[in-house]
Amino acid sequence: MSPDVVVVGGGVIGCAVAYYAAKRGLRVTLVDQPRRGRATSASAGGLWPLGESVGLGCGVIYYKAMAGLGALPDGVHGPGQLPRSFLDFAVRSNEMFPALAGELRAETGLDVEYEPTSLLFLMYDEGDVSFARPLWEHCPCGRDLTEWLTPDEVARAEPAVTPEVRGALRFHGDNQVNPYRLADAFRAAARALGAAILTHTEVTGLKVASNRVTAVETEAGVIPCGYVVNAAGAWAPEVGRMAGLDIPVRPVRGQIVGTETLPKVLSACLSTTDCYLAQKGHGEVIIGSTTEEVGFDAGVTPAALKTLAAGAVRAVPFLANVRVKRTWSGLRPGTPDELPILGPVEGLGGYLSACGHFRTGILNAPLTGLLTADLIVGDRPSFPVEPFLLSRFTRERSPRGSGPL
Ligand SMILES: Cc1cc2nc3c(=O)[nH]c(=O)nc-3n(C[C@H](O)[C@H](O)[C@H](O)COP(=O)(O)OP(=O)(O)OC[C@H]3O[C@@H](n4cnc5c(N)ncnc54)[C@H](O)[C@@H]3O)c2cc1C
Repeated sequence: MSPDVVVVGGGVIGCAVAYYAAKRGLRVTLVDQPRRGRATSASAGGLWPLGESVGLGCGVIYYKAMAGLGALPDGVHGPGQLPRSFLDFAVRSNEMFPALAGELRAETGLDVEYEPTSLLFLMYDEGDVSFARPLWEHCPCGRDLTEWLTPDEVARAEPAVTPEVRGALRFHGDNQVNPYRLADAFRAAARALGAAILTHTEVTGLKVASNRVTAVETEAGVIPCGYVVNAAGAWAPEVGRMAGLDIPVRPVRGQIVGTETLPKVLSACLSTTDCYLAQKGHGEVIIGSTTEEVGFDAGVTPAALKTLAAGAVRAVPFLANVRVKRTWSGLRPGTPDELPILGPVEGLGGYLSACGHFRTGILNAPLTGLLTADLIVGDRPSFPVEPFLLSRFTRERSPRGSGPL
């Protein structure tokens, strides 16, 4: 019997869609050809809806790099804040994690290492303070979710952090997870619910008849289906072209350094203008990450690794004495306005987007999966999809960073 839905791409997004669709009783086939640089395998696993929405995490690193190059777009004077619709989506997705972690553990036995914690933006100088103060005073997420820490309070909360700070801004509710485990658990749970998972299988074409996708062509044969979901990450444009769509997703490389396993040294995740740091459940400290426009080059460079390492040692001096265990990079599926591309496309039936999750695909995977399943079965969407439709790129847009939260 042919599936109701074929999901193209087996990263965290495709696996989440497969899970939520299978949970609704749909017949699901997921097809994945692992490509070098796929983002889920590279992620840090930060669940930072507040921090990322106001431009911290990678945003602040990107801003600093662009400002240093004199390459900021006209009218942009700080890290871009994302629109309210994004913040609300990300907060809602983040709220799904505690129950989801239990659900996935019960269904698969896998622990996704969900850790409730917070994100601390460390302030080194007057520039950092003047950037952080308005975020604290006018935080769109509300004052009770942010906290201004004095240097003494930082020292008490995070003894490993350098005393050379002017303070820190804390975002409560910005948590973390193990990203690989999350994708594995979604995949295993989808399979347990009856989904067929075709690994190492390339999708080579989409069959379209009377303005509707009717089948997916793969190396292993043609799969007729009711819906196809494009969850191909940075390669989503390739899959879109198979149905005549122009999808503005591009690869944005991120490099990361991982330390040897350490005893617990950090309670919170840290964000600075140089890098971010997150200690994972197994003790490794993840030091990320660059945001580079280098096409599909998934290599690592000594210069970037050196900068990240120096940033980490500046924030947590003790790290000067530990070993680097591994370095890697991945390709974020970036979009021009930094928002994901979700939902249906006008004039093409049987096709749904679930791509362009840029630097927050781990965070936004649960709600993306749930919402996509809602759309397939025809239920009222769990979250309004309009701000994320592909059609927004056919309308005139304001420049990045200018949309207030
Ligand atoms: C360094 C780094 C750090 C990050 N940190 C965070 C973080 O802390 N928090 C967070 O929320 N997000 C983070 N992200 C972003 C997050 O990893 C991505 O948004 C997310 O993984 C995107 O998932 P995806 O499933 O869309 O893409 P991918 O994981 O890239 O998966 C797409 C899959 O589709 C497959 N595919 C492509 N074309 C085809 C085809 N024709 N046929 C079959 N299969 C195909 C690919 O091989 C791949 O397996 C980070 C990303 C990077 C690179």
